[in-house]
Amino acid sequence: MTATPAWPPGSAPRLFVDQALAEGAEVALEAGQANYLLNVMRLKPGDAVRCFDDRTGEWAAEVASTGKRDARLRVTAHLGPREAVPDLWLVAAPIKKQRIDWMAEKACELGVARFAPVLTRRSVVDRINLERLRAHMIEAAEQCGRAALPELAEPVKLERLLRDWPEERTLFFADETGGPPLAEAAAAHPGPAAILIGPEGGFAPEEREAIRALPRAIGIGLGPRILRAETAALAAVSVWMALAGDWR
Ligand code: SAH
Repeated sequence: MTATPAWPPGSAPRLFVDQALAEGAEVALEAGQANYLLNVMRLKPGDAVRCFDDRTGEWAAEVASTGKRDARLRVTAHLGPREAVPDLWLVAAPIKKQRIDWMAEKACELGVARFAPVLTRRSVVDRINLERLRAHMIEAAEQCGRAALPELAEPVKLERLLRDWPEERTLFFADETGGPPLAEAAAAHPGPAAILIGPEGGFAPEEREAIRALPRAIGIGLGPRILRAETAALAAVSVWMALAGDWR
């Protein structure tokens, strides 16, 4: 369940609510959120909460009523719009549970617009629990102050991803066999972008060829060492954000 840190002390917990919010609206919280507010954060009626709905932005709210296992919020004021996030997708092959959860969480914190799992030949993991991943991204969004959740795409096979690739979007393909540094490539190719990261086993040679054949694909390197997939993903997203994203 959500773990919005109460820091600084006394700051209002921040929750994602999956319904359109408006001033005066009442929200019945899910059991997990109610438990978190009442039993972990020990909130009482009248206490302040912040919430966002991934639609209308960020809202101030207060605890309206509480039961043993449920709580209702009353929305009091609009605090800000749903922000635009940098136009970067992270496209990554599934890896083991804790590692992909971590990858999705960090990608959310760093501000990616979309997380898209891609199935490749050497993936050791071929099932992906989207609901769990989404829960991790929601928790990260609550914690980091995002009011726009990253989109979570249905997993697709690499062939299909390449076939349907949008023409205007550069695909920075992290190639463990080497390539120009991402920092150079990102500076040379501004605009909508995606970073493609392979699985633990890397890309098969024929996959590498198919990716290279895509006109918008640019092979890039992330230094001389072989990084774990999740390290590669976060290093690449960070470099792109620093150069072309919202760190500027
Ligand atoms: N087993 C493979 C490594 C896979 S690492 C091997 O030994 O070659 C997982 C993914 O992280 C790779 O497919 C690639 O997308 C990315 N990656 C790791 N290190 C990288 C580097 N130095 N440069 C670019 N991409 C890298």
